[in-house]
Amino acid sequence: MLRLEELLFPSIDDVAVLSVDVNIAIVRVDARCTAAGAWCPGCGAWSNRAHGSYLRFPADVPSAGRSVVLQLRVRRFTCRNAQCGRRTSVKQIPGLTRRNGQRTERMRSTLAAIGLALAGRAGARLAHVVGVPISRSTLLRLVDALPDPEVPAPRVVGVDEYATRKGRHYGTVLVDVETRRPVDLLPDRESSSLAAWLAQRPGIAVVCRDRAPFFAEGATAGAPQAVQVADRWHLWHNLGEAAERSIAQHRQCLRVLVRETPETAEAEPDAAEESSGSPRPTGHRFAERTRTVKRYADAAKPEGLFTGRWQARTSVLDEYKTYLDDRWNEGCANAWKL
Ligand SMILES: [Zn+2]
Repeated sequence: MLRLEELLFPSIDDVAVLSVDVNIAIVRVDARCTAAGAWCPGCGAWSNRAHGSYLRFPADVPSAGRSVVLQLRVRRFTCRNAQCGRRTSVKQIPGLTRRNGQRTERMRSTLAAIGLALAGRAGARLAHVVGVPISRSTLLRLVDALPDPEVPAPRVVGVDEYATRKGRHYGTVLVDVETRRPVDLLPDRESSSLAAWLAQRPGIAVVCRDRAPFFAEGATAGAPQAVQVADRWHLWHNLGEAAERSIAQHRQCLRVLVRETPETAEAEPDAAEESSGSPRPTGHRFAERTRTVKRYADAAKPEGLFTGRWQARTSVLDEYKTYLDDRWNEGCANAWKL
């Protein structure tokens, strides 16, 4: 026959189940610690001199839809070492209890796993569904109390900045480029902080960074052995910015092309006069149209439908402006019709 200890506490030693009491909502497991002694946490000496016992009530993982609470009698032992400052200590049951813990270890690790997967608010909701009422802040405290995982030093490290407080404060994020996982956060973006971090990891062969001067200095000082490269994202980003600047400088050339293209002439009333010539590449046309549509959508007044260079000029429409305004106010917002 299966013993209750094997059913309820598999692979946990030093615990005996005395009784199990089940009511409609709660399973209460009456158990006691059976350890004959304990190692003193102060000096490490073994003691088997019992000094009384008391009850603890750690919450355990739910069973068949019911909450489970242990009524656990733990033992206190007196330290025999005369030099030790610690008089007594409570024997913890490995895998089941910890000092001042209000939950069993398996309950704690289950909740921490939920917190890691879903964080506070969603985690608390899910925990409630599986029968463990817990606040989101308690859940986050359990995650916070987890030891940091050991991360092997990366060989190829990516360095970039991250923002907190809505972009008012910047720090440095370090990413293992090969595993694509962040490995550390530095609270600032000083070259000295980066250099110190890199210097502790002499195995770094490549530093992938943007062109900010503090990252360049930090990488050179902290990892002189490493090759410094610009990462793909920043290359594309820089190229994109350069292309945009260049196109902006040559707007006038594009204007000429806009007016020469029949399709755009239909779409754009302000470029309707001429309609001949070769079509422009699709990308330009699409970008131009997108901008036009956005400008029309954002327009609050008829004047908003025209770009700045059309506003200051005299126009054949000038003497009809009052009429056009009235039509607009009546609800006709179609510029071409107007
Ligand atoms: Zn001691």
